[in-house]
Formats: sequence, structure tokens, C-alpha cells
Amino acid sequence: MPTATEKLHLSEIAPNVVQSEIRSMTVECDRLGGVNLAQGVCDTEPPAPVVEQAIQAIRDGRNIYTRLDGIAPLREAIARKLERDNSMTVDPESEVLVTSGATGGLYAAALALLNPGDEVIVFEPFYGYHLNTLISLRIKPVVVPMAEGSWEIDFDRVRSAITEKTRALIVNTPSNPCGKVFSLKELEIIAGIVEENDLFLFTDEIYEYFVYDGTRHISPATLPGMAERTISISGLSKTFSITGWRVGYLAASSRWLGAIGYFHDLTYVCSPSAFQYGAAAGLLDLPVSYYTGMAEEYKMKRDKLCSALQDAGFTPSIPPGAYYVLADVSSIEGANAKEKARTLLRERGIAAVAGTAFFAGGRGEKLLRFCFAKRTEDLDRACKLLRG
Ligand code: PMP
Repeated sequence: MPTATEKLHLSEIAPNVVQSEIRSMTVECDRLGGVNLAQGVCDTEPPAPVVEQAIQAIRDGRNIYTRLDGIAPLREAIARKLERDNSMTVDPESEVLVTSGATGGLYAAALALLNPGDEVIVFEPFYGYHLNTLISLRIKPVVVPMAEGSWEIDFDRVRSAITEKTRALIVNTPSNPCGKVFSLKELEIIAGIVEENDLFLFTDEIYEYFVYDGTRHISPATLPGMAERTISISGLSKTFSITGWRVGYLAASSRWLGAIGYFHDLTYVCSPSAFQYGAAAGLLDLPVSYYTGMAEEYKMKRDKLCSALQDAGFTPSIPPGAYYVLADVSSIEGANAKEKARTLLRERGIAAVAGTAFFAGGRGEKLLRFCFAKRTEDLDRACKLLRG
């Protein structure tokens, strides 16, 4: 008989999926009373109809499990929004799944469509959850670096990263952390590679409404031939400032949606009922100007932060989308990015995330990521602290 200690151990992958650096910076920042530009939480107010409808839903007794693919009014509102804003035509009965955030959407899609040992191409800098979701399912992320600063893609590198085991590619547009918004040209090349190699394309479009300087968000599923093989993932965490509510969604061919829904049910059962009603009200009631106004507001916040970063002696890479800035902070003391982040917190009271959280292979050591989804007064205070 083996002794208890031989079998009482963590799983093989547990040591690889470490506590997120973002969370640990947040804890440290709270301890020191600094301004937290580390975590990607928008602490702006959610829109009134979203809040009111969620409260009303609780009062109306909408407190039980919903259908596993989400409540009909929300699926219908998502289909309408996809048609209006993304030029995607989907059937709300069979091609839309309401998920526990975009995070739950990717997890369920990976469970339903991929096998342990499969390989998935991920662009770098990447969003850590993408990588770790794959690793937790024993799927191998294959990282393809983009050019630092311009974030251009070397498509020969993408092609040579593809092997017999490659099953999918993940596109995060607009991207966390670098703010890259994939152009039509880039998406056309990606669509070609995906088709040639018979791959799935997983998207993460959670920042779709955060685009600046006339940049346009394009949903990859709208490219010719892509609808069948694209799992389009997005959510309302960022758009309605409701990160803690856990309301996201995905759109996919009905060929895949049933299995994805099954695994989503198994892991999350459903997105919280009352919050689904709140999200549906937001999608139905808010005018297009809500989204354009939000982009204008965030553009101002981006410019404010970037100019403070420049004044502090850093080199920000100005993002055309999302709400983060990667900045070269070589001038801060510290042997590596984590140390630089800690120096900045200690000396200026600003929490940022070490660039290494978004890069593999020792890259990202000169970079920190700053989030500008902050209330104006907090961002102003952060800019003042940065300028010293
Ligand atoms: N995708 C990206 C790229 C993100 O940055 C985040 C939030 N940090 C998420 C997904 C999480 O989205 P959700 O709250 O819908 O799970």
C-alpha cells in the first residue's frame, strides 16, 4: 500500500498555473494605499438600466437557474447587437450561448472542441488567462511573438509554428495588454492560414467597443469562410463595467454550440440569472451613442495616462484599442520587470503589472502594463503621482 503522502499531491499542471501577478500587485497596492493601475477592472459606474433591471429581476423572483444557453431576451438582444455592430447574422435559438464571462466561454469552448496534447497558436504579448486556460486542459499553447512596439505579425512565423497537432488559433482584438486592433488585411491572412490548415479560430472581442483614433473593430467571423470555424467570444464585463457579474457570450455554428453549452453547464451551470436580465436591458435600451461616448471618454483617459507616462520618463506604446498601456520603463530601478513594478509602487504609489506576465521566454522585462479604466479622479491622482 502506498503511504498517503505519495498520492496526496498537487496535479502535474498545478505548479505551472501560479497565482496571477496582477492579483498579488493588487494586494500589495491595497496594503500601501496606492493607486491600482494593475488590475483591468473598470471601476466606473454601470449604466442605470443595467443596474435597475438586475435589481428588478431579483424582486420579480428571477432567482433560479436559467436555460443552459441563457435567457431568451438576452440571446435575442445579443443576436441583434451582433447584426448591428458586428455584421454577424446569428440565430439566437441555436448559435448564441450566454456564458459566465468571456472566461467561461473560452473554457467551455476549449473543453468541447480540443483534446489534451493539441496545440493552439497564441500571439504574444498574450492575456494570461488564454494561456492558462489551455494549460489547465493539458492543451499546449504555442506562442508567436509580435514585433515589440509596432505589434506587427510575422506571418511566416505563424506558418512555421503550425504542426500536425495544431487545432486552433486565438485572436484577441482589441488586445490586452498591447491594445492592438487587428486590421482587415491581417485578419484576411489569418483566415487564409486557418482555412489552409483546417483550424478553429477562437476570438476574444471583449474590448470591441474600446477603439480609438478612427480604428474599426472587425469580427473575424465575418471574413469569407470563417463563420463555420470561428468561435466568437465576447462579453459585457467591460462594456457595462460589470466585471463581477459574470455575463459574457459566444456565437458559433450550431454544429459546435450544443457541445460547448453542455460543458458550460457542467462547469458554471449558467450565468447569474438576474444579471442576465440586467445585461439584456443594457443591450436593448442603450443607444449607439452610449458606446461611441464611452470610446471618446476612454480615448481621453488613454491620452492623459500616456502623457503622464512620457513625463515620468517612460516610453508608452500608444494603444489604438482596449484600455491598457504597455510602457518601456527601463529607467526605473530594478533587475527585472517585477522589481521595477515594486520600485514604482514603493516610490510613486502606482501599481502596474510586470510585462513578463504577458510574454514567454524571458521577454517583457523592460515593460510594465498600466490600466486606464479608472474613475477620472483616480486617474488624475495617478498621473500626478507618476509625474512625482
Ligand atoms: N479577455 C480579456 C482579453 C480580458 O482582458 C479580460 C479581463 N481582464 C477578460 C477576457 C475577462 O472577461 P470576462 O469578465 O468576461 O470573463
